[in-house]
Amino acid sequence: MRVSDLIDPTIKSWNWTAILETIHAYEDHLRSIFASSSNLPDKLVWLPTKNGNYTSRSGFGVSVVKEILHRFVNFNWQSNIWRTHTAPKIQTFIWKAAMEALPTNANLFYRGIQVDPNCKRCNQTETCYHILQDCPFSRRVWDLSPLHTNMSLLPSTLLDWIGKIKLAVNLLPTGISSTSLNAKKPPQQPITTNNDQLGINLPHPVLPLISQPFPHHVASPAPPPDSDLTSLFVISCFTYAAWNATSLVSGLGWYFRTYTDSYAVSDLCQYSTATRTHVCSALEAEAWAVLSALRQAQTCGFEAIHIFSDCQVLVKLLNSEDIHTAIHAILGDIRAICSSFKLSLFSFIPRLANGKADSVAKSALQAFVSNIVP
Ligand SMILES: [Zn+2]
Repeated sequence: MRVSDLIDPTIKSWNWTAILETIHAYEDHLRSIFASSSNLPDKLVWLPTKNGNYTSRSGFGVSVVKEILHRFVNFNWQSNIWRTHTAPKIQTFIWKAAMEALPTNANLFYRGIQVDPNCKRCNQTETCYHILQDCPFSRRVWDLSPLHTNMSLLPSTLLDWIGKIKLAVNLLPTGISSTSLNAKKPPQQPITTNNDQLGINLPHPVLPLISQPFPHHVASPAPPPDSDLTSLFVISCFTYAAWNATSLVSGLGWYFRTYTDSYAVSDLCQYSTATRTHVCSALEAEAWAVLSALRQAQTCGFEAIHIFSDCQVLVKLLNSEDIHTAIHAILGDIRAICSSFKLSLFSFIPRLANGKADSVAKSALQAFVSNIVP
């Protein structure tokens, strides 16, 4: 089955009869997805990336994040690691152990390095837990350490072990008289120390794995019209979208004017607003504002249009052939409608300079919300 099988070619929108007969479980989800009206061809895309292209990095990230979210569902990072009363380098070490990120033989082997994955001392698989607790040599070290805790009774999983080991009670070192450990512990120090006290609050360790780099754009100056097109009557259009992340409602605003601003294009087209529901992101709302403005410009019979938006991501997408999986259909319709103009340009404008469109869009959203809220 293809997406096009679920689109009614007559009305160029979802064929709800076909959808309810085949994939009715996805009805709610599909209602928030815009079906392109410009007959975009079906395309296989990799949804975890914005441009729809698969990369080994994104594939690895998805698999790791899924595993991490499942594995750490009951693990308290703050109390078990970042707020333990110990040196930052020890916290980092524990964090790496919890993430199974220590360069153990098993990890090196898993990453394709030609090493023996087994422990050199006992020939069992050398995992983080094995090194820290399970290896007979490690157990012997723990047995000899001045802890008032029977380490052999600790849990058999790494995360549970990390959660319990912080509760192990230190006794005064015995048989040591002139080490740095002893020098740092004055005699009047209490015999026991509680390791679970406030430490340093570091960033959440999972987020760097799932965060996507935010595209960096340089504001593109308004390109001058081509010399062959200087005779065209270019209309400037300023768009803005106000989006409510809770209700997923968006207010769209735009207005037209000439380059010289010496006279208005027409009273009908000066300020326009619209609202949309089921808008899933601010980027989608901005794209809807541009598409709505272009549709009106087409209706008004404009030959050349210069769109200004304060959404840098959108402007960059429109000035390239890049795709964005979240707004693929809207971008397709924008590009299709642009082909009907002799000239279409897209430029970034700072939000402070886009005040008129800003105010009309916000007014549209406010009016819509006040109408539906009793
Ligand atoms: Zn071992």
